Amino acid sequence: MNLGGTQILLDPGPGSLVYAIKHKCEPPQLSAIILSHKHLDHSVDINVMIEAMTDGGWKPRGCLFAPSDAFNNGAVIFPYLQKYPQKVELLEEGKQYSVGGVEFSTPVKHIHQVETYGFVFRTPTHKFSWITDTRVFNDLASHYKAELVIINVLSLESRLPVDHLSLRDAELIIKEIRPKMAVLTHFGLTMWPVKPWEIESKVSEDTGVRVIAARDGMKLDLDEVT
Ligand SMILES: [Zn+2]
Repeated sequence: MNLGGTQILLDPGPGSLVYAIKHKCEPPQLSAIILSHKHLDHSVDINVMIEAMTDGGWKPRGCLFAPSDAFNNGAVIFPYLQKYPQKVELLEEGKQYSVGGVEFSTPVKHIHQVETYGFVFRTPTHKFSWITDTRVFNDLASHYKAELVIINVLSLESRLPVDHLSLRDAELIIKEIRPKMAVLTHFGLTMWPVKPWEIESKVSEDTGVRVIAARDGMKLDLDEVT
């Protein structure tokens, strides 16, 4: 994300460094790396990106935000890299954080196999939320009211006991929040056969909200969220 010049990387999954370079995002320009939770599809490149942000530790800079279990008991962040960022902060339920001119909060602990948080980001001009991996639970939507909501959607239908949101869950959340726009991302294998980009218009019709299925390399200008 580039929010008024503050560049933030959320969840450095597989290939983060390669994709960053491909899309002309310079890791040494990053102000922060945020990890929602330590599952590999979100965290596998976090050590690589900490090195890239700090020039291999030679230029301590930037902030790192992650849940405590990413640092201990099956840590995914190597101890020797934890001194490279200028600031390391633990994510906790109900806390507020800031980096550059951007504020964000982690309103509620998610129901997922490991410690997981979603985010509400605030800039001087915009407010948007990101509902990361979680099982649906009471009041989930109420924590993420914003003009733009990004939702991690794994599957078409609920596949209990998987602790993830389905497309049906996402539709209910969108109907409750009623944002100006919703973006669906994090598609699992059962979503690909239905071609997420082909169901955008149906989901938009069903919810009454403009819904976009994220693509690799897609750019979204917050000023266009109207
Ligand atoms: Zn996960």
